[in-house]
Amino acid sequence: MAKGFQGGCRCGAVRYHLAVEELPLAYACHCLDCQTWTGSAFSQQIVLPEDSLSVSGPVATYDLTSPSGRLSRQRMCGTCHARIYNTNSGRPGLAIMRAGTLDNSDRLMVAAHIWTKRKQAWIAVAEGVPTWPEAAPLAALDAALRRD
Ligand SMILES: [Zn+2]
Ligand SMILES: [Zn+2]
Repeated sequence: MAKGFQGGCRCGAVRYHLAVEELPLAYACHCLDCQTWTGSAFSQQIVLPEDSLSVSGPVATYDLTSPSGRLSRQRMCGTCHARIYNTNSGRPGLAIMRAGTLDNSDRLMVAAHIWTKRKQAWIAVAEGVPTWPEAAPLAALDAALRRD
């Protein structure tokens, strides 16, 4: 089997492969949009170069423009509509994966939390893990997710 990590949507029509040696550290976003979109407590995301990602299957897109004018293009399964990843015109060349779609999601490590002012009260963040009440400055978030 090819090196890397596999994942896919709920129905199995969309599958993907991440050609990376090591699983990137994840961050959790507790914003209300992520809760609404996932129907869950937060979204878990990993960021990696878009060219390390190969996707097969019926991918549908949904475009969102932020108030700052950045275009976020969401990719989901065209059959079961599970959200898989997005790209953002403000971060060209990067894919932001919905990391819970990984086959080995039990190996994810959340190393940062954003939008904790909307965090559900029962979730305890481990001591020493960086948090931001709202969005994190990208450089700070990237630094928190670096493994070295
Ligand atoms: Zn599907
Ligand atoms: Zn969010």
